[in-house]
Amino acid sequence: MRRLLLVNALIFAVLAAVGAFAYFGWLNSPAVALRDEQEKLLNELAIEKILNIESNVAEADNRILKIVRLDQLDKLDEQVKSSGAAVSSVFVLDADLKVVPSGSIDLTSRAQAEAVGAREWYVAHEISHLHFRGLALEQPSHHYGTRTDGTPYLLSYERKLADGKSYYVVVEEDLNHLINFMIPQFFLGSRFLYQVANDRGDIKQGWPFQYEKEAIKAEIEFTMLDGWHLRIAEGDDQAAKKVRDKQIIDSLLLGGAVAIIVVGLILLAIAIRRERRSNELKSDFISNVSHELKTPLAIISMFGEMLANNKTKSAEQATEYAEIIWRESVRLGRLIDNVLDFAKIERGMGVYEFAESDVVEVVERAVDLAHRRLQAANMTLEAHIAEDVPNIQLDANAFTLAVLNLVDNAIKYAADGKKIELTLRREDDRVVLAVRDFGPGIPLDEQTRIFERFYRAKEMRLKPIRGSGIGLALVQHIARAHGGDITVESTPGNGATFQLWLPI
Ligand code: ADP
Repeated sequence: MRRLLLVNALIFAVLAAVGAFAYFGWLNSPAVALRDEQEKLLNELAIEKILNIESNVAEADNRILKIVRLDQLDKLDEQVKSSGAAVSSVFVLDADLKVVPSGSIDLTSRAQAEAVGAREWYVAHEISHLHFRGLALEQPSHHYGTRTDGTPYLLSYERKLADGKSYYVVVEEDLNHLINFMIPQFFLGSRFLYQVANDRGDIKQGWPFQYEKEAIKAEIEFTMLDGWHLRIAEGDDQAAKKVRDKQIIDSLLLGGAVAIIVVGLILLAIAIRRERRSNELKSDFISNVSHELKTPLAIISMFGEMLANNKTKSAEQATEYAEIIWRESVRLGRLIDNVLDFAKIERGMGVYEFAESDVVEVVERAVDLAHRRLQAANMTLEAHIAEDVPNIQLDANAFTLAVLNLVDNAIKYAADGKKIELTLRREDDRVVLAVRDFGPGIPLDEQTRIFERFYRAKEMRLKPIRGSGIGLALVQHIARAHGGDITVESTPGNGATFQLWLPI
């Protein structure tokens, strides 16, 4: 029991080790390493691009923020245009956050009223929240947001001082230009694919990625554009395919190795179980056989001694004792035959000698041999032997042993039924021998197991009926060696019919 526990624990430990091996093998597989490497590379590239893009925007804004001054508003238009920055509008607010007269210009194609509307919306809804009055002097800040109508915007702004009073310069970024013209310029001639996605995940610029799900890609957020992403993927088809192929091969190799180990362990567990069962059966067999050898020997020696010492009351009694001795020695002989033949079969030796034989004669002789045992058990045997049974290739001794085993079993296990029916007939290209008894029968779940070597039915093991469990295994071996087989049909409580068939 402890050994079994140990074996099970060992199998479990090996399974756990296999799991760990698979996991770490996968993590360290060249494909995963290559993928990680590429992902890192893409990440660095994305960060670099974002820094470049943002510093580019900030630089242009700063130029405007620096040159726009309250005392030079007449040059506002000229200053903004000459800065080269891509902006939608610029406006200047006084200390009370009111747009200074002629302190605004709009560079978009929208109508005047619309431009004024947008500006008023920023002042009323956003700028009031941005704590302009607390801003550090001449320090540019940025704010990204979405207008009520859903349009995204980016504002850059700065607090300045004139005659001791604060005023504010606000730049409205041209997002359309940033996304559709500026960002693409950063990827001109690059082998990488890129996408710009807004805060809702809609792709606003860029190309679709190949094999989107498995593409090696990086996704980095903009600092200025809250929630906006730059996504970069390997654009070189060959490089991406190489990583994918390697990954597939690695998975197959690892998966295959793990599967082989697991199947091996399962087979090992099955083999151990079988071996255990077979060992149990063997030790049962040894004790059964010893018992079977001892009992008839004890009987023979007891009655032999009585005869030798003339301890019989009459001549009839002496004959009776002699008959007992004879019966038991026949029985002993049969058992020894069984064990020896079985041992030969187990060792795989060629045990059969086939010759064309008359089955009818062989069966009749076997029935004759069983005669005395039948009488002693108070049973009758009805033999129905058909006349059209032809001669077949047969090992007569082995076949006799098979018939005797079947009849013996019926005597041993079905004596209560009083009767045994033996039929020998031809069925198409087969010779069929059936032995039917009227005893307790065999439970359904044991009907195939009784042909296993050393197996004895549970119910019978409890009864004082002697047996070794090799009889039916031997009969099955003999039948199959002749190219035939043996089957049993039995309804528990209603007897059993064993049918042995041989080919003609
Ligand atoms: P043994 O008779 O030595 O136990 P066998 O291989 O001949 O071994 O039989 C195997 C088992 O099959 C027996 O132990 C018994 O339980 C069952 N069996 C065989 N023949 C019969 C029968 N005619 N009726 C009921 N059970 C049988």
